[in-house]
Amino acid sequence: MTGIARAGQSLKETFGFDRFRGRQEEVVARVLAGDSTLAVMPTGAGKSLTYQLPAVMLPGTCVVISPLIALMHDQLRSARANGIRAATLTSADADWRETQDAFRAGELDLLYVAPERASQPGFRDLLGTAPLCLFAIDEAHCVSEWGHDFRPDYRMLRGMLDAFPQVPRLALTATADKQTRADVMTQLGIPDDGLVLAGFDRPNIRYAIRHRDNPVRQLTDLMAAAPGPGIVYAPTRRKVEELAVKLAAATGRAVLPYHAGLDAGTRAANQAAFVTSEDMVIVATVAFGMGIDKPDVRFVAHVGVPKSIEGYYQETGRAGRDGDPSQAVMFWGAGDFATARQRLAEVDEGRRNAERARLDALAGLVETAACRRAVLLRHFGEDPPQSCGNCDNCLEQPSVTDVTELARKLLSA
Ligand code: ADP
Ligand code: MG
Repeated sequence: MTGIARAGQSLKETFGFDRFRGRQEEVVARVLAGDSTLAVMPTGAGKSLTYQLPAVMLPGTCVVISPLIALMHDQLRSARANGIRAATLTSADADWRETQDAFRAGELDLLYVAPERASQPGFRDLLGTAPLCLFAIDEAHCVSEWGHDFRPDYRMLRGMLDAFPQVPRLALTATADKQTRADVMTQLGIPDDGLVLAGFDRPNIRYAIRHRDNPVRQLTDLMAAAPGPGIVYAPTRRKVEELAVKLAAATGRAVLPYHAGLDAGTRAANQAAFVTSEDMVIVATVAFGMGIDKPDVRFVAHVGVPKSIEGYYQETGRAGRDGDPSQAVMFWGAGDFATARQRLAEVDEGRRNAERARLDALAGLVETAACRRAVLLRHFGEDPPQSCGNCDNCLEQPSVTDVTELARKLLSA
């Protein structure tokens, strides 16, 4: 049986899925062939499977670099639920010795670690004690200063990767414009022909961008129009608290806050309540969302503007992962961009231009009278149709026949 035919069988046996989605199959085939790859696929596309499946099929352990301990532990739970032999090696784990022993004995399919681990000589020594099949670098845009979430620790990865030149590398990200993509590939030593770029379009998400006049009323209307779970992003902790209270009072629905100022227990409880709920709304800062796999989010609202067009895409992308109709609505005000530009002054100089360009791209999206989806997809290097029929500008622009009809009425009046 060929590698990819075996992969189809493992897909069913390990994950219970009948078929690959999008370009998963292509990525898995490359990994099985030992080719280093950058996979750029939208949030919810199923990137984890593209390293977990080869990790199960190939002899040796797949080392996964992931930026957040909370993310790793979520991944660990779901991998183990599928019967995959997985462990994490983080400062939050007490079972270090067991994990190291299991690794040395070749009993792990997946070993999740944080990027700073990679620069520690002791860790490299450990990796040398058992065969490896793959390095998977999740959220790989963090390696690039062009990326919207640069993390200096990711720069340490190259040394570790180069210490094991025979082990293929799979970098994964949902958000990488052309420049970031090129930079990620250079930084991680992935050859030019190693890019797999999946479609960014999320056709079931209806985009709308509106002026903010009365956010509580506007959000109440949205909650009525898009019943089901929703996320409201607000710019500050204070706004989060205030909106959560007002929305709960105005709608009688369950509405909870989430921000970094809440204690860890409350944060975890509110997140868990949201993930299991069928109608709850969570009001949050951008601290909320990474790694949350809730398929039935019916709307994502922004009160204020996100940091960048990438941030907008990533945050709105949390709506409708199940493919059902969903809404992404931004309520913005004239002062929002001025505030955002002021904040750029605090960004270090090396990154300021890149961040300004991304904010400007977002302003272009807000101001356009053309199809929102087309502007968004063009930013990610795609060549979309002029009009999507599922955004405010496409839906609310008077059509040519309406205009002709109006003119006829005016003339005959
Ligand atoms: P990403 O990291 O790209 O945002 P995840 O790896 O977290 O996405 O996967 C998102 C969801 O898609 C998960 O619930 C996963 O089980 C599901 N999924 C992945 N691949 C498939 C597939 N081939 N068929 C059906 N569901 C899939
Ligand atoms: Mg992921």
